[in-house]
Amino acid sequence: MSMQLGLDGMPARLVRVTPSRLATWQDCRRRYRLTYLDRPAPPRGGPRAASTLGAVVHNALHAVFGERPARRSAARAALEVDRHWSSEGFRDDAQAAEYRERARTWVGDYVERHAVVDAPEPVGEVVGLERWLSAPVGAMVAEGRADRLDDRDGQVTVVDYKTGRRVPDAADAAGSPALALYVLAARRTLRRPCRRVELHHLPTGTIAAAEHDEASLAAHRERAEAAATALGAAADALEEDSRRAEELFPPRSGARCGACEVRRHCPEGRAAAPAEPAWSGLAP
Ligand code: SF4
Repeated sequence: MSMQLGLDGMPARLVRVTPSRLATWQDCRRRYRLTYLDRPAPPRGGPRAASTLGAVVHNALHAVFGERPARRSAARAALEVDRHWSSEGFRDDAQAAEYRERARTWVGDYVERHAVVDAPEPVGEVVGLERWLSAPVGAMVAEGRADRLDDRDGQVTVVDYKTGRRVPDAADAAGSPALALYVLAARRTLRRPCRRVELHHLPTGTIAAAEHDEASLAAHRERAEAAATALGAAADALEEDSRRAEELFPPRSGARCGACEVRRHCPEGRAAAPAEPAWSGLAP
């Protein structure tokens, strides 16, 4: 964490947050502690197929969009899926092969539709690929990697790829804290106008889009700042007295505990839901 001068002239803490840290804190504080604070880090569950598939698709798209449009094609996209493929977390070879083929189709169709020369729905000029964005926003430093930043008529659009079961809609795009923070950070980093956010769901080809205004961004920023302040204070209190771990970072159990990667360290989570197989959560 870094410091800046506060209003009273005393050093005020600047809490560094990524969207995934904030999301974990808001989802379950025990998971936050086990994931980000406890050192040495407690062992986690094994790889999950949905995460593996997401990483493969992201890597393949990163490779294809790193090329100029004339060198992009569905065949090239399928090749990149093969190059980055991993079968970790899948039930067996047959399931892995099925999803590998699906991923080749998803990424190939997407590239043909949006990224080749004369694409029917072009995405504009790519100005950032997994670009690290970092910017002070009030009492925190928001930072993280945006999947893609497109320039369309001088406006930057923040794009996030999705590969899970759930098909996103416009409300998901507008309500995504991660996308809103990337807008704020992209404005500061690129010094260009930015207010549009999009979730691109590869399995269905859905693009869920929203346009932020100053009020919606301010609301996201306030919520993120409040969470960042709370998680910073809880981490400080834990550092002072490790016996307060349970009180400061209580579990919040529910059905999703079945797929939590730190459930082996969490009796309440294990009691709340049976362990889900590593291949649960794949898009149908
Ligand atoms: S198993 Fe559930 S309650 Fe336990 S840390 Fe994970 S998400 Fe939290």
